[in-house]
Amino acid sequence: MAQAHLELQQSFETLETEKAQMLQEKVQLEQALEALKQENDKIQKEMEALKEPVANQKTETLKVSQNKTAYLTFDDGPSSNTIKILDILKKYEIKATFFVIGSETESSKKIYRRIVEEGHVIGNHTYSHNYNKIYASVENFMEDIWKLEALLEEVAGVKPKIIRFPGGSKNQASSRAGGKGLMADLITRLQEEGYQYFDWNVTSKDASAVTPDKEIIVRSVLEGIQGKKEAIILFHDNAPKTTTVEALPEIIEALLEKGYKFEVLSETSYYVHHR
Ligand SMILES: [Zn+2]
Repeated sequence: MAQAHLELQQSFETLETEKAQMLQEKVQLEQALEALKQENDKIQKEMEALKEPVANQKTETLKVSQNKTAYLTFDDGPSSNTIKILDILKKYEIKATFFVIGSETESSKKIYRRIVEEGHVIGNHTYSHNYNKIYASVENFMEDIWKLEALLEEVAGVKPKIIRFPGGSKNQASSRAGGKGLMADLITRLQEEGYQYFDWNVTSKDASAVTPDKEIIVRSVLEGIQGKKEAIILFHDNAPKTTTVEALPEIIEALLEKGYKFEVLSETSYYVHHR
């Protein structure tokens, strides 16, 4: 009997020891679980933090794509095409920038006035557009600018502070006529006098031939604007550029479809300077 009692006693003690061990293990497991939970929380928070900038970036991109601006610019007018261009712009209710040259015929004077009256902007493209003359010296260039300025003020009441260099600011003719440093001197002088000059970042290639194929013009603009939030588009407004006029509605509709709004250039607007 005593023997049996002793054995029972021993097995009870063994059980007690095992129970204590199990309790200890349970505590250890609970601690490990708690540690895992904390680790999990930390990772979750880190993941949330990582998500946020990505979400912000997406919003930014969306904002950018909703704010695309096209600046239609027409050089060398007035011409027999200007009225057709103005009629098209009126139909679509959009405004453009005309870098005009000097012409004192009655029809030209009417065109200068109509450009202004219909809310478009006139820029100065020099009076004579004669490369050899205007690019011979800074003084020659400024005189030509002022001559057109005086005409525009008298006829249309505007004194444009925005300029487009004939041939753009990176043309070869200016260094041939006035030397290598001429363009840099011109730019400095214009800026001192409060003018801003504009090149372009999209060309319609309507100067690639006397009268290029309409399709070349449309394709060139649509390829050129790809990926551009701001597009200053170069067109020409002189008599042979009939296909520029023909291409215009298609180009405007495509730009509208791609979410572009149309703006005019100003001293404070977006600009492109060729380097
Ligand atoms: Zn020109």
